[in-house]
Amino acid sequence: MLKIGHEVVRPGKKLEDASVTIQVPEELETVPGIPLNDREVDWYAREYPLESINYTERASRDWANALRDQHAEMREIRKEHDKLNRGLIMAARQTADMEPTGEPTGEDVSQAIKDKARELGYLEVGITAYDHRYEFQSKRDFTKHPHAICLAYEQDFEPTQTIPSVDAEIVHSSTYRTQAAAGLELGRFINSIGYRAHVIHSSDATGPVIPMFVEAGLGQLGACGYLLTPHAGNRNRLMMVTTDAQVTYDKPIDYGIHAFCQVCQVCVNRCPGRALMRDKIWWRGLEKNKLYFKRCRPVMARYLGCGICMKTCPIQKYGLQATMDHYAETGQVLGKGTHDLEGYTLEGKGYFGPGELPVFDRGFFDMPHGTIEDHAFENFKDQAKAAGGQISDDMIQELKTEMGRAMGQQYDAVAMISDNLDIDADYI
Ligand code: SF4
Ligand code: SF4
Repeated sequence: MLKIGHEVVRPGKKLEDASVTIQVPEELETVPGIPLNDREVDWYAREYPLESINYTERASRDWANALRDQHAEMREIRKEHDKLNRGLIMAARQTADMEPTGEPTGEDVSQAIKDKARELGYLEVGITAYDHRYEFQSKRDFTKHPHAICLAYEQDFEPTQTIPSVDAEIVHSSTYRTQAAAGLELGRFINSIGYRAHVIHSSDATGPVIPMFVEAGLGQLGACGYLLTPHAGNRNRLMMVTTDAQVTYDKPIDYGIHAFCQVCQVCVNRCPGRALMRDKIWWRGLEKNKLYFKRCRPVMARYLGCGICMKTCPIQKYGLQATMDHYAETGQVLGKGTHDLEGYTLEGKGYFGPGELPVFDRGFFDMPHGTIEDHAFENFKDQAKAAGGQISDDMIQELKTEMGRAMGQQYDAVAMISDNLDIDADYI
């Protein structure tokens, strides 16, 4: 039995459940939240502001969407989701200017907001300062309230275990919609107790939000690039409501996850694209396992959004309490090496059990890079080179069309909306 370093007490999974106590072995203790260097976070935010990969990697996004649309069933499901989701995004945007409908009492309303959020179905809720350092350049001044209510909504267990699958894709997008509707309700509640509330739809996120969620104590960043929460690991969808309400901030917590991921490594070993880093690096002032985006997107595009790093995480499957208890007792990672945790099927490629990974053809990872305009210009240069320097009218016309598309999308805020938040959220 390993020596226990400290205990973390968190609310139960359901509103009516008793609180849970997580015992963190001493050897897994690091720091509350994420190890970070504030001066570096400041410097990068100032000198190299963040931008959404929906803009900076738009060429590969369009390429991936075209590939995904070849799957007839998913194409229809996605169309339906986009239609329903767009209404929710627009409704959320309107909350930015909504006035309170009630009078404030002057008392701290943190607990009232948290109780309401839990009643509305959120699994985890915490409050912290809205940190502009993790904001996309294109989302500057998008939200003006000083406090961030960080909300995690659990995605259903059963369909998630079938990842990658159509069922998992359906539950993935429906969870985003369900939590958005709950967020609008939470916003109305905050208005009714006398304060402003800007509901930010997860597809319209202002930046990579995970550092704020960690700061608010909801969980810690996993090696897979997702937030890991105690009850559902990475099986959550995240969104934020900013407010001017009178609130108290929560504190970051050391759940032992930062160190546990280095022992576990299941998602790293199981990733079909070999897109997850074994070791942590310092990136923009934070210590984390960085995702190789160029190795992830081609897999996501071809295999139903992939998500194997979610499915194979023991904290997602068994919860943090059971995972930590097992580790403290045995020194082993719960479920590691079992088909139940590690096995998955890729459509058209077959089943891969523990220790087995698919092999892809040469060219599998080739995809366009950069913004639409970067890619269009690179393409133009390649064509001109292949034609021995001769530039045809068709080549110029193609370049003009792509440039026009790029300019149109750059100024169309709705076209910048994310359909791939997980990668974006990881982009710290
Ligand atoms: S989504 Fe798939 S390819 Fe991307 S990091 Fe996760 S397991 Fe790897
Ligand atoms: S699978 Fe293991 S290494 Fe990956 S995020 Fe989950 S706990 Fe961390």
